[in-house]
Amino acid sequence: MTSAAPAETILKSSHLLGIEQLSVPEITALLDLAETYVALNRGADKKTATLRGRTLINLFFEASTRTQSSFELAGKRLGADVMNMSVKTSSVSKGETLIDTATTLNAMRPDLLVVRHQDSGAAELLSRKLDCCVINAGDGSHEHPTQALLDALTIRRRRGAFQGLVVAICGDVLHSRVARSNIHLLLKMGARVRLIAPRTLLPADADRFGVEIFHDMKKGLQGVDIVMMLRLQLERMSGAFVPSTREYFHFYGLDHEKLKLAKPGAFVMHPGPMNRGVEIDSAVADDIEVSLIQEQVEMGVAIRMAVLDALSRGLAKEGRNAP
Ligand code: ASP
Repeated sequence: MTSAAPAETILKSSHLLGIEQLSVPEITALLDLAETYVALNRGADKKTATLRGRTLINLFFEASTRTQSSFELAGKRLGADVMNMSVKTSSVSKGETLIDTATTLNAMRPDLLVVRHQDSGAAELLSRKLDCCVINAGDGSHEHPTQALLDALTIRRRRGAFQGLVVAICGDVLHSRVARSNIHLLLKMGARVRLIAPRTLLPADADRFGVEIFHDMKKGLQGVDIVMMLRLQLERMSGAFVPSTREYFHFYGLDHEKLKLAKPGAFVMHPGPMNRGVEIDSAVADDIEVSLIQEQVEMGVAIRMAVLDALSRGLAKEGRNAP
């Protein structure tokens, strides 16, 4: 391994559990570091030795396409050994608890554990029990910090700064960890946030978030710079929160007609997976003039590389699990 000068510490904590705990300088430093990985990922040789000797375990209790694969790629491009734990074929299917599964994996001395779990607080619980760095890849409807960071990187690359930007987060806010992490991040960075949703899909305490709230999408979209659409999370709903998906699309689905109400040149984002024809029209999702959805995926790999790099700097400093 080439011995470079010790890298600067970026994160105070040895875990990434949520955006709520991050400071503005920490967020800015992560975005800056991710820029270097955007450049690396666009080159022919995408590998570095930053995490050589380190082991990363992906432990996903919920389905994932983008997050799991981008953490895997991120780890591999940084030179780590990456193991994807398949929960369906593991002893979890025999009833093993989250803690027992994680403690077993911890005994194999990983350096970084990426966890997605259906319960809010799962990642934090693990961070208190294990000696490796824990990264929250989505816990229930609580937080999904790397999604908000990759969204921020996408926005910053297109708009330059957050100060004064108006971002509308639309749809199923109630069940969305993406919305929560984005609200924390955008407000910290100086953007204005609007939530646009039917009453049934907003948390009861939404008026305490420091955001503007709209139930009428046509009013809420007026003058916004970024329209962030959310998936209707049917798997988290017991009972009906919307009369029908057809009616939902009529009032809250983003099509070109509604998008015209936003600021000229406004961009559209969606964390994926999309329900086409439910919260977003295909004509908008696939319109490369306005849709940043594929760019978000690209930024996802760079952000996850930045997060893994930043956390591993803490490991090296503490001499924890030194390779
Ligand atoms: N992929 C995101 C998440 O895991 C958004 C979604 O599932 O709708 O929260």
